[in-house]
Parts: sequence; structure tokens; C-alpha cells
Amino acid sequence: MYDVLIIGAGIIGASIARELSKYNLKIALLEKTKDVSNGASKANSGIVHGKYAAKHGTLKAKMCSEGREYFPKLEKELNFGYRKTGALVLGFEKEDLEPIKELRNNGIKNGSDPDSLKILKGEEIQKIEPKINPETKYALYDPEVGVCSPYELTIALAENAIKNGVELFLENDVQNIKKDGDFFIVETDKDSFQSKIVVNCAGVNSDKIAKMVNADNFKIQPRKGQYIIFEKNSGKKVKNVVFQLPTKKGKGVLVTSTYHGNLMIGPDSQEIFSREDKGTDIESLKYIVDTAKKSVPDILDNKMIRSFSGLRATPDTGDFIIEESNVENFINVGGIESPGLTSSPAIAKKVKDLIKNKIKLTKNKNFDPQRKPIIIKKNLSNDEVKKRLFIDSSPEKIICRCEQVTEGEIVDALNRNIFISTLDGVKRRTRAGMGYCQGNFCGPRVKELIARENNIPKDKITKSDGSAGDFERFKKFHELK
Ligand SMILES: Cc1cc2nc3c(=O)[nH]c(=O)nc-3n(C[C@H](O)[C@H](O)[C@H](O)COP(=O)(O)OP(=O)(O)OC[C@H]3O[C@@H](n4cnc5c(N)ncnc54)[C@H](O)[C@@H]3O)c2cc1C
Repeated sequence: MYDVLIIGAGIIGASIARELSKYNLKIALLEKTKDVSNGASKANSGIVHGKYAAKHGTLKAKMCSEGREYFPKLEKELNFGYRKTGALVLGFEKEDLEPIKELRNNGIKNGSDPDSLKILKGEEIQKIEPKINPETKYALYDPEVGVCSPYELTIALAENAIKNGVELFLENDVQNIKKDGDFFIVETDKDSFQSKIVVNCAGVNSDKIAKMVNADNFKIQPRKGQYIIFEKNSGKKVKNVVFQLPTKKGKGVLVTSTYHGNLMIGPDSQEIFSREDKGTDIESLKYIVDTAKKSVPDILDNKMIRSFSGLRATPDTGDFIIEESNVENFINVGGIESPGLTSSPAIAKKVKDLIKNKIKLTKNKNFDPQRKPIIIKKNLSNDEVKKRLFIDSSPEKIICRCEQVTEGEIVDALNRNIFISTLDGVKRRTRAGMGYCQGNFCGPRVKELIARENNIPKDKITKSDGSAGDFERFKKFHELK
């Protein structure tokens, strides 16, 4: 019997699990895929948004403004990758000044410092961001915005939650939930679990999960956002996150550097009908390139290495749903679209407060907030990389030459407390396969290490979607040039 059972190990489920692990509770975290962070939490812009980003008066605005403040402390504890960059929201026409002023007012209402949230004009913008379109007339400048590595944050939260007593069950697809007196029976395709409280954090499936207990007073419409990511070091092109004015569909196409220094452009926004559709298409990628060029004209000087997409869980209520449902002890955390990543620490605290009203919470005196980094920053010369590629198995041996990932880092990732059975599991933890060749060189070597360390036959090791690899992508990019 668990005190709390959390469904879905994205950033929201993992944040809640870690927050609750500060108390003496028996907690289960259930995830249908082979790893944590396989949903929207792995495929988003990675922006720690400013307070201007969500409409004043909404739960989104409250959670975003509160949540963003925890990031510096979380980075110190969990070492996932976060830094402040600043952001610009560009306006190209005279008429754009009014909406930019409105955004600023919204930020101030949500708690931004009026002295730092500024409206810049003409050359002032170029001084901050030299590669910006010289025709930009106005920009809202928020120095508080940052970028983070969203999947590393999710992994770090889950690892730390497990260290503090949470039990993670991967490859458990929740298929039915029954209420039996004072507790729930949660049935997956593998097993059955009993819990006093259930927290539904199933992302695009959160309405389906809620329906299992008739607690579905909301519907989710998935909205796909596609991205293009560029080669290593291309992120130097921009210092700030560069947005255009938001539209009805969202924050629009941005130009940013990822935490690890890759230039990234996207996302677009398309309503889709399958909750599994993660493909990218040439028309959307063309739209993204053309729109991004309006902000930073020479974007295509850099080489593209990959396209990907993420699904927003857009609720018909228009706001985050974070509440105990009409079914006692069944808590819905649904409709967590953007800025859900930024809001995640505050959402976790809100859920803890809901649970505090149900179960007496006593502090876990053994709670340890620290989680060590996996990636060790290095800047090896080409000669050193070549030398270390061909040495015998050792922690210093280079496995991924593009990202200079060592056998030691991969072995560390494989021997932590989450069982890794996919190439993507290693990729997201160590960056092996994130470089220009996208794993064509290191893929077989990583497979060997997964097989050796985790005792899995090599032919059973795939990417997280079950595929062997994606060699078609370069063809796609030739069409964009
Ligand atoms: C294109 C895009 C850009 C974004 N950009 C930003 C940004 O820059 N900044 C920001 O703050 N936010 C951003 N967001 C929002 C942010 O990514 C999300 O709010 C956040 O990732 C949602 O996390 P989650 O845990 O609710 O969902 P998910 O990460 O999708 O996790 C849900 C989990 O539930 C699991 N699950 C589903 N069904 C079941 C089942 N039946 N049984 C067991 N498990 C199940 C899934 O496999 C998944 O792992 C963006 C989102 C998108 C899509």
C-alpha cells in the first residue's frame, strides 16, 4: 500500500516525487515508457520563462512566477544545467509597440522589476544582440530569462527522488483505476498497485487517466511543436532567447542557444489528433526557418543536425489544472503546457500542500538534496580525442568523438538508480550521440556498454521509440537550404 502513487514521470511527476520525498511517505512513480522524461519534458524549448510570459490572474502566471525563482537553487543541488541568458521579444512594425507595452505591464503585474524589464528601440537592441534583424523596431528585454536542459532536470529530479526513497516503475502503462473503499487500485499492463492518494501527471494522456475514475472535467487537445537544432557551438550566434510577439497559438518561433550551446529554432503549433505523433515534416520546418530568419537573418550559416517535435497538452479550460478532483484523494495535474517546465517547482509545492491536507506530513530527516553531475566539461584537442579513441576500455576512453564523451561518464550514467535500456537514455544523460554525426559513430559503442553494464543482449537495445536510428534526416535538411 502506497501513500501516494504518481502517474507519469515527466518533469511534473518527477518534481512532485522529489518534493514529496522530503517527507516520510511511501511513494510510487509509474511511467509507461522505458525511461523518465520521454514525453513533452524531453522536447521543448528549455526556456525558464520571464514573469511577463503568462497572463496575469491565471494559475499559469502564479506558478511560472513562483517556479522560476527555484532554478538557481535547484541547479546547485541537482547539477542539470541552467544559466541566465536574458530574452528579447521583437517587434518589426510600428503597431507592435502597443502589444510590447502590454507584455511589459503584464510582467510588472506578475512581479517583474520595472527597472529591469525594459522596452528597447532600434540600435539599443543591436547592442545587446548584434545578429538580430536590423529592421527590428522595438523589443521587450527581460534579463531574468534563462535556459536549462529540461530532460537532464527531469532525470536529476527522478534520480534524487529515488535516492530519497521513491520507487520508480518504468514500462508500466496505467490502463485502469478502481476505487476500493479508502484506497485506489491502479492497474498497469504489468502489475497492480494500491495507494491512498493518486496524482495524475500523465501529460497529453491526463484526461484519459482522469476518465478512468470519472474525474475528467477537462479535455486535452495535443498541439505539436517542431524544432530544428544546429551543430555544436552554433549557439554562440545569440546570447539572449529571441522571441517574436506571441500569437493566439502561443509564444511563436524562437531562436535560442540550448544550455549546451547548440543553436535551436522553433516551435510551430499544430493541433493533431494522435497523442503519439512525434514526426516532423518539411513544410513545417520550412515555416520555422523562414520565421526564424525574420529574427536572425543568417541563421542558415550553421549546419542543421536534427529536427524533433514535442506535444503540448492544451486543456479546454485555458489554464493549468492542479486540484483534488471530484473523486476524493484523486489529484489532477493536467493541461500543463508552457510554461510548465518553468512552473514545475511551484506545481510540486502546490501538490504537496494539497496532500498536506490529507495526510500528516513529517519531515524525512535523511533527505539528501544533492545529485552529482554526469557530464564533465572538457575541451580536448583533436589529437587527444584521436589518441583516446583507440585505447583499451578505461574511464578515459573516448566513446563519442563529437561531444567528447568518455566511457567513464557512460558507465556512471548506467550505474545510477534508473535502469537504462535505450541509446536515448545514455544520450540524454551523457550527450553521446548529440553531436554532428548523431550517433552514427558512437551508437554501436554505446550499445556495447549498455549490454555490458546492464546485461541486455545488444540486439534488444534501440532508441526510446524502438527504432534503430534515423539516417534520413540529412536528406530532409538539403531541401531546406
Ligand atoms: C513544443 C513545446 C515547447 C515548450 N517550451 C517550454 C519552455 O520553453 N518553457 C517551459 O516552461 N515550458 C515549455 N513547454 C511546456 C513543458 O514542456 C511542459 O509543460 C512539461 O514538459 C509538461 O510535463 P509533464 O510531466 O506534465 O508531461 P510529460 O513530460 O509529457 O510527462 C507525462 C508522462 O506521463 C507518461 N504517461 C502518459 N500516459 C501514461 C499511462 N497511461 N501510464 C503511465 N504513464 C503515462 C508519459 O509517458 C510521460 O512520460 C513546452 C512544451 C512543448 C510541447
